[in-house]
Amino acid sequence: MAKVKVATVWLEGCSGCHMSFLDIDEAIIDLAKVIEFARSPITDIKEFVPVDVGIVEGSVGNTEEEEVLKELRAHCKILMAWGDCACFGGICAMRSTFDKEEVLRRGYIETESTYKGKIPCPPGVPALLDQVKPANHVVKVDCYVPGCPPESKAILYALNELLAGRIPVLPSDMMRFD
Ligand code: SF4
Repeated sequence: MAKVKVATVWLEGCSGCHMSFLDIDEAIIDLAKVIEFARSPITDIKEFVPVDVGIVEGSVGNTEEEEVLKELRAHCKILMAWGDCACFGGICAMRSTFDKEEVLRRGYIETESTYKGKIPCPPGVPALLDQVKPANHVVKVDCYVPGCPPESKAILYALNELLAGRIPVLPSDMMRFD
């Protein structure tokens, strides 16, 4: 039987959601028999190919992240959001309470330790969006695994539900970190 193809992207986040996935420990051996990873920080493959399941970690805070998420959506049948950043904006969305120019000025010029600071703008560096957005403000998301990070058992549950042909809805005891 053909393996289920999965792609994952890591946008504006800390990689903690991917780390939590790797915390499923030996369960990854059984999972590897039925799924294969295409583009993902886990494989370091950069190209998108059509996949069954796309997974997004992180919120959307710049133009590159927006493009990557749209590409993922265009290449997957089901899109799952991992973690509070992708589901709700998470801690990254705290920036949205400030004007982005103000944030850049504070970060690169006005911090107490900065000497002769300037806002960098080398070619190729993606521009910040005015607001940091959760994934579903950019594309359609089919299912959610919230948490910061989600517990590995919640991630495993969601993947197994998808493998069984069901859209996962997490039981309430998986919505908090024990
Ligand atoms: S949800 Fe938490 S663990 Fe996941 S990327 Fe965001 S900050 Fe990191």
